[in-house]
Amino acid sequence: MKNTDIYFMADGTPKSAAFDDYYFSNGLGVEESNYVFISPNKLVDRFRNLPELGHFTIAETGFGTGLNFLLAWQCFLEHAPKTARLSFISCEKYPLSRSDLQLAHQKGPHNESLSKLLQEQYPPLVKGFHLLEFDRVNLTLILDDASSAYQQVSATVDAWFLDGFTPSKNPDMWQPELFKQMSRLSQSDTTVSTFTSARVVRDALQGAGFSISKQPGFGLKREMVKGLFIGVCGPNPITGWPSSELPSPKPNQLKRIAIIGAGIAGATTAFELNKRGYQVTVFEQADHLASGGSGNEQGAVYAKLSASANHNTQFYIQALVTAQKSLARLPKSVPHQSCGLVQLVHDKRELKRLNDIADSDYIPDELAKVKNSRELSLLLGTDLDNPGLWFPEGGWVSPKDWVKYLLTEIPCKLNQRIVSIKQTSTGWTLFNANDEQFEFDQVVLCSAYNTINFTQTEHLPLNAIAGQVTQIAATPTSQALKAVICTDRYVMPTFDNRLTIGSTFRLKSTETQTFESENDDNIEGLRLRVPSLLTGQPKVLRARAGVRCTTPDYLPLVGAMSPAAQLADQFTLPLQRNRAHKERPAAHIKGLWVNVGHGSKGLCSSHLSAKLLAAMINGEPFPVSQTIADHLNPNRFVVRNAMRAKRKKAL
Ligand code: SAM
Repeated sequence: MKNTDIYFMADGTPKSAAFDDYYFSNGLGVEESNYVFISPNKLVDRFRNLPELGHFTIAETGFGTGLNFLLAWQCFLEHAPKTARLSFISCEKYPLSRSDLQLAHQKGPHNESLSKLLQEQYPPLVKGFHLLEFDRVNLTLILDDASSAYQQVSATVDAWFLDGFTPSKNPDMWQPELFKQMSRLSQSDTTVSTFTSARVVRDALQGAGFSISKQPGFGLKREMVKGLFIGVCGPNPITGWPSSELPSPKPNQLKRIAIIGAGIAGATTAFELNKRGYQVTVFEQADHLASGGSGNEQGAVYAKLSASANHNTQFYIQALVTAQKSLARLPKSVPHQSCGLVQLVHDKRELKRLNDIADSDYIPDELAKVKNSRELSLLLGTDLDNPGLWFPEGGWVSPKDWVKYLLTEIPCKLNQRIVSIKQTSTGWTLFNANDEQFEFDQVVLCSAYNTINFTQTEHLPLNAIAGQVTQIAATPTSQALKAVICTDRYVMPTFDNRLTIGSTFRLKSTETQTFESENDDNIEGLRLRVPSLLTGQPKVLRARAGVRCTTPDYLPLVGAMSPAAQLADQFTLPLQRNRAHKERPAAHIKGLWVNVGHGSKGLCSSHLSAKLLAAMINGEPFPVSQTIADHLNPNRFVVRNAMRAKRKKAL
């Protein structure tokens, strides 16, 4: 993607060089936005009338300088109940650069504190979905063409702001596909307004199910249009994946949620649901939090990216940006450093990946940049012989302290091994090892590899890979290390006079015993990859082994569970021959969700996954594209296997 060129008129109004059109009326942006969008959509009244814990969704075309967003945000803060939430979705095909955004805010009459918050989180230039989170307000900014962007949105929209450049100058924005998607995403009291009254827009809105009326336009514009959706309600499933059409529970219903597992996936999930007013209880079999894979003293916040926009890279880029933002905001009480991180080349394959990234423009430099060994040696404070991919915002954190911090306000039941869960007529009963019972409305399984111990999820293809980290005494040489180094192993900057190196791999093992031989492996790995950090024979201080839980496609499992046998049938029964499976959303088990399979990247992937899951449970817009949500769908392997079996049978 490229940033667009804009210039400013004498009164500070931004103008697009490519479209020769204004972002808003000369010097009167705020008045215009209020007149064209805030007022016709009756936002003040609708925000005031939101219930406690209520939720409202606005969707916009053409984010531009973010003026409409800033005004809607301000209006929400002034009028909505203090416990309500706002989701604002917008798309932008030609994004302003961060510096132009800042300039536009400086020159225009924007609310200074809100615009500063927006500027801080303005996303890197990567096509696709970006989640910007503020207090009670989420902005999903999709850097893409309006029609393609809204094809990927999963949401129920309450108000539409149609704000592209005028149809005569920018017909691409006003395509039939956009109106088709508007219809899919609208419900009975959804409103719309737009600055234009062009025939093509009026006809398209009516065709999409809106009853429209004209009213005098703002300033010199003769007329504008507002409307109400009177079409057929209810979003259709847009993909063939099960559970793509989820229930949107009414606020205050199904509020008691049990989370099983107090690792990083459980903690982030509990945190997101607690934020939305759910009564969350975390159950943990161990006698302390973060006892499993999240229990190390230091963990790297990292992801492995490739040069092209495959699904894994799309997900991990978004997850990484989300996690890095959370890392940067952590208080001092959680040991962490946003010190930068390098993925150092250690073999031919990695060199090829690095060269491909250098040749492609998919990953912007502000996220990750290829550096040579000399540049890296300076950045890291130690001599390196190889090039690598440098993540300036990367870093490390104490996972167990992060987990504790996220769970500060949440009741956690320790020493509670949940051995089975049973669906009842009203919700779920959990049984512990002593056959004691706990009643909840919904359950989220965040129990990593142990998730396969429940009958409802025993078929999930989760693999266990145990691994050991070693801590050695820091030396003046190792204390020079300023950032995290990842190769096929990793090493962190020293903390409390210890240098943490890891991790070994014990395939298909759930063994948490530590071995001296694996300490030797870690030390020899470091000597081989970063010899400059070791002098003589290091003194081993501690070792710890944990179990990672991975999936066959290296993406976590996040979403609603479907009954496996019924689902497989749905995708294989003869009926399906004549009917594309895409038209039939598969059943799901009411109130049963999972967030597992984060492998060694949980510190990166759990945050976005938890936000997606909380959005699904609370009926909010998904923070990721529908395609990514489908690729995280926990039922994907059942479907893939069923389809494969069907194809084989047909041969
Ligand atoms: N709402 C904006 C604000 O508050 O600053 C002003 C929007 S400006 C009038 C129109 C915006 O639509 C521009 O930022 C432009 O780059 C964007 N745009 C134009 N064509 C587009 C398309 N096909 N898809 C997505 N965005 C588009």
